[in-house]
Amino acid sequence: MAASFAGRGPAPVVLVERTADGGRKILISGGGRCNILPSTLAPERFVTDSPAHLMRAMLRAWPLAAQRAFFEGEIGLPLTIETDTGKLFPASNRARDVRDGLLALARRHGVTVQFGTVVTGLAPNGDGWRLETSAGPLRAGRVVMATGGLSVPATGSDGTGLALTAALGHRVHQTYPGLTPLTTAALRTPHPTPHSASGSRQPSLLAGLSLPVRLRVRWAGRTTEAHGGFLFTHRGYSGPAVLDVSHVCVRSLMTGADEAADAAAADGPDTRARLLVSWSDRTAQQWERDLLSGDLGVATVLGRVLPERLALALMHAASIPRDRRTSALRRVERTALVARLTSDELPWSGHEGYKKAEVTGGGVALDEVDPRTLESRHHRGLFLCGEMLDAFGPIGGHNFAWAWSTGRAAGLGAARRD
Ligand SMILES: Cc1cc2nc3c(=O)[nH]c(=O)nc-3n(C[C@H](O)[C@H](O)[C@H](O)COP(=O)(O)OP(=O)(O)OC[C@H]3O[C@@H](n4cnc5c(N)ncnc54)[C@H](O)[C@@H]3O)c2cc1C
Repeated sequence: MAASFAGRGPAPVVLVERTADGGRKILISGGGRCNILPSTLAPERFVTDSPAHLMRAMLRAWPLAAQRAFFEGEIGLPLTIETDTGKLFPASNRARDVRDGLLALARRHGVTVQFGTVVTGLAPNGDGWRLETSAGPLRAGRVVMATGGLSVPATGSDGTGLALTAALGHRVHQTYPGLTPLTTAALRTPHPTPHSASGSRQPSLLAGLSLPVRLRVRWAGRTTEAHGGFLFTHRGYSGPAVLDVSHVCVRSLMTGADEAADAAAADGPDTRARLLVSWSDRTAQQWERDLLSGDLGVATVLGRVLPERLALALMHAASIPRDRRTSALRRVERTALVARLTSDELPWSGHEGYKKAEVTGGGVALDEVDPRTLESRHHRGLFLCGEMLDAFGPIGGHNFAWAWSTGRAAGLGAARRD
C-alpha cells in the first residue's frame, strides 16, 4: 500500500521485501479469505500506550468508505459483507486476490519490486539514506519502513525493522503478543464416563467445542469485555472473544510494566488477570427461572442453550450429578450452577505467544512520527507505518484498516514535493 502511493510521486520507487512473494500475512488472514476491513470502525477498541488522539487521527486519516472504494475501484476487487459479523471480505473469498491486486497496483504506478532481499542496515547518508541489504547496498532519498512487528515470524516479520528503528533513536514501547490464544494447565472435563478414570482431568475432552460467549477480564482495577465466538483448543482457549481480550492476560504476566505495579496495588499479590465467562446471553435471573420451573433433567435445561459436553462439564464443576432433575436441585446447587453459567472463572496459565499472535502490541511510540505524513520526528526522509507502530485493533478487519491507512499516509508523505 505504501509503495503504490509513493509510486504516484515523481521519484522512482523500489519495494524491498525479504520473502519470495510478499504479503504473506494477507495470504493467511481471515482463514485464507482475508478479512480486509470492518464495516464499522471502532477506534475506541484499539490498544496503544501512546496518546490515543494520535492513534485516532492516523486511523481516520483514510475513512473506511474511501478505503472500500479504493479496493473496489482502483484494485478492482468487489467486497462483500458477512452479515452476522460485519466483516468485509473480497467477494472471491480469496486472500490471494488482495495480495496480488496490491502488487499489481504498485507495479502500475511504476514500483520496482525486489523480492528475496533482506534489509539489514539503515543509516542517514548525506541528503538521503544508505540501506544495507542481502543483495548489497542501496541508496535512497526517502525510506518507508513497513516491516511489521514480531508476530508469526514465518511470514517475514521478525522484528528487524523495529530494531533498526530503535537504533536510529526512536522510542519503542515494550512489545507483546496480541490477539493470541490462551493456554491452561487445567481444562474442564465433563462428568467422568465409564471409560474415563473417575474424577481424572482429561484436557482434550472439550477441545473443538465452540460457542458464543461474553468474556470479562479483570486486571489492575479495570474490566475489559468482549463477546463473540469462543473455542476450546487442545491447549486452552481461542476464538474472537478470547483473542480480543488476550492482550490483557499477556500484559498481566509481563514484569516491569507500569500496570504490573498498579495491579499489585489493586489486586494484591496475585497480579494475573482474572478471566470470567458467561456461557450465553442469558442472565442469572433467566437461568434461575428455568431451573425452578417444571421437572426436567438439569442437563436438558442447560442443553437447550449450551452444547451438551459443556453443560455436563459445568454441572460437574458445580458438583451436581448428571441425572439430577430440576425438582430435586437444592438451592445451594442451583446457586453454584448459575454462578458457573454466568460468571465462571476460567483457569488460564499462559498464552501461545508470537507464534500464533495475529498482531504485536507496543512498537514505535506514535508521537515519534508526524501523524499526518508519518515522517519520523528524528530523521527527515524516514517514514514509519503499519504494525510496527504502537497500536492494534480488535479482530474484524481493524488491523488491516490500520495498515492500509498508515501505509497510504506514509507513501504519500514520502512522495510529496518539498
Ligand atoms: C494468522 C493471521 C491472521 C490475520 N487475519 C487478519 C484479518 O483477517 N484481518 C485483519 O485486519 N488483520 C489480520 N491479521 C493482522 C494483519 O495481518 C496485520 O495487522 C498486517 O499484516 C500488518 O501489516 P504490516 O504491513 O504492517 O506488516 P506485515 O504484514 O507483517 O508485513 C511486513 C513485511 O515486511 C517484510 N520484512 C520484515 N522485515 C524485513 C526486512 N528486514 N527486510 C525486508 N523485508 C522485511 C516482511 O517479509 C513482510 O512482508 C492477521 C494476522 C495473522 C498473523
